[in-house]
Amino acid sequence: MPLLLSKPLFSLFLHSKPPFSMAHFSNLSTNSTQKARLRGVVFDMDGTLTIPAIDFTAMYKAVLGDDEYRRIKAENPSGIDILHQIEDWSPEKQRKAYETIADYERQGLDRLEIMPGAAQLCGLLDLKKLRRGLITRNVKTAVDLFQTRFGITFSPALSREFCPYKPDPAPLLHICSAWEIQPSEVIMIGDSLKDDVACGKRAGAFTCLLDQTGRYDSPEYADVEFKPDFKVTSLTQVYSLLEANFDLTP
Ligand SMILES: [Mg+2]
Repeated sequence: MPLLLSKPLFSLFLHSKPPFSMAHFSNLSTNSTQKARLRGVVFDMDGTLTIPAIDFTAMYKAVLGDDEYRRIKAENPSGIDILHQIEDWSPEKQRKAYETIADYERQGLDRLEIMPGAAQLCGLLDLKKLRRGLITRNVKTAVDLFQTRFGITFSPALSREFCPYKPDPAPLLHICSAWEIQPSEVIMIGDSLKDDVACGKRAGAFTCLLDQTGRYDSPEYADVEFKPDFKVTSLTQVYSLLEANFDLTP
């Protein structure tokens, strides 16, 4: 008689109390020593691999106007999706909005700095032969500039030109298929709950939220639809988190 497996195929064993918080246990189980195999890491760029250099609040106000900004912000406490907000605007209004967004992004590029721990983390992932990808809602020129300036490359690196963009799972699914691995063998790391965590969870990947200031501990984020599997306050915590929770065998 065939044996019926009642245990979830996907189970992880948490060895010890890690220095990072386990935000969510949906994919995790403590009754097995088997760790999930991790074969790829996908990063967000702005605010994750780079220090936030874009004043998003100022950008949103410049695009929407103060009153409209306040109204939309009240309706979307977890964050405004500016590209979505302008989707239905007239071509002329939309063109102006994109110009304003591009201006803010250009200013951000001038002040671009790499996130502490990013280069070291990428080096450690390379040692384990883990694939590194990138998904951003920023433009391709910004990705190119980041990769050249800091000498770290990601493949594939998908920018806003790849549609639909985050939080749609399409870019992450595209990367998984390019890598010929399952989304369940990938972790998405980013600083946005509404874009990075939502994209990762929708695709069926693990997710890690980078929350440097603890802003997502606020009660307004308690009932969000997609919660991260892991939460860190610095990229320097990520590698030990991966080692503790995943099988990193190349
Ligand atoms: Mg970001």
